[in-house]
Amino acid sequence: MNTTLQTYLKAQLDTLHAENLYKPLLTIEGRPGARVNVGGRELINLSSNNYLGLASDPRLCEAASNAALTIGAGSGAVRPIIGNIALHDQLEKLIAEFKHVEDVLVFQSGFTSNAGTIPTIMEAEDAIITDSLNHASIIDGCRLSKAKRSIYQHCDMDSLRDALIASKDARKRLIITDGVFSMDGDIAPLDQICALAEEFDAAVMVDDAHGSGVMGANGRGTAYHFGVTDKVDIQLGTLSKAVGVMGGYIAGSKSLVDFLKQRARPFLFSTGCTPATAAACIRGIEIMRDDAGLTERLWENTRYWQAGLRELGFDLGVTQTPITPVMVGDEAKTMELMRRLRDKGVLALAVVFPTVGRGKARVRTMPSAAHTKADFDEALAAFKEVGTELGLI
Ligand SMILES: *Cc1c(COP(=O)(O)O)cnc(C)c1O
Repeated sequence: MNTTLQTYLKAQLDTLHAENLYKPLLTIEGRPGARVNVGGRELINLSSNNYLGLASDPRLCEAASNAALTIGAGSGAVRPIIGNIALHDQLEKLIAEFKHVEDVLVFQSGFTSNAGTIPTIMEAEDAIITDSLNHASIIDGCRLSKAKRSIYQHCDMDSLRDALIASKDARKRLIITDGVFSMDGDIAPLDQICALAEEFDAAVMVDDAHGSGVMGANGRGTAYHFGVTDKVDIQLGTLSKAVGVMGGYIAGSKSLVDFLKQRARPFLFSTGCTPATAAACIRGIEIMRDDAGLTERLWENTRYWQAGLRELGFDLGVTQTPITPVMVGDEAKTMELMRRLRDKGVLALAVVFPTVGRGKARVRTMPSAAHTKADFDEALAAFKEVGTELGLI
């Protein structure tokens, strides 16, 4: 082994430990539900993106196992060679109908949907105009593109207008925003963004990883919520969060999907999802389509959880969605809050630099449709005790 590399790695790790930024990887023993077993203990799970509780839903598990038994464990090749199975086509058709768009392309993940789409459609003569708090996978997608990039201040329409004015010489322009911002839980003003896009002849892309299954009727997403489905050129959704499985998709026009199928590199050069994954995703989307009650329960639980925390005196920042950050600021104190909550049976993970800025550390909690009032009450009691000990409330 190369000593220079190993010395570098050890020094980097030492720095992370010294700055309280080192995050140990936890392991769930058994099912990923509202309560999980970690390290031999049952904990109330307030850190998962499993918004609707579908990740361990027996209907999805049955669909997955049937597909594996009848079709196979894998699809055998990348989709454009001979790995495109009927379940891939069915899943795409189902999502397109559900979201009221012309066409959909499913990728291996939300991350690869961004990394595969942005550089494919935005070239050196173009300009990408991107919100300062956009997700890491958007940032990486932009880095893979040769287009000029300008960053506007988070959800600030004056700043977006300035960026549009400054980029008027670009051949074409794409505004990219998260639909729901993953760390703060606020919602992009898509109605205003679409109006500006129209005024300046720019296209709009919304990464709706945290809006899928959460926003709009039956969880159809943030564009649907604002009534701007026909004004948003590209919607990105994930199948890994509310849908409970794994994968991502791009929803938009037939030409967009047709072109991505010819040129998007993760589609061309990386194998598509397994039969089990596709079948479970289909079942998950069908359940969302047929039962608005799941999304409604998610929001009802969100109101209960957030009211409880606010009553105790916690600062939840600017959230408008189930994403519920408990703002702390200091990294060491945030890690201590996480540790003490866990000692009391509550799993609420700390989010620290580089996921958020330095000094903006928080414990991020995520209520779901699967939690019960008893789960929340028990967790609130723990937050009250630990929050008092640490002087947060
Ligand atoms: C989680 C997330 C992704 C990535 O989705 P995966 O399917 O887990 O790869 C992309 N964008 C945003 C905004 C996200 O929150």
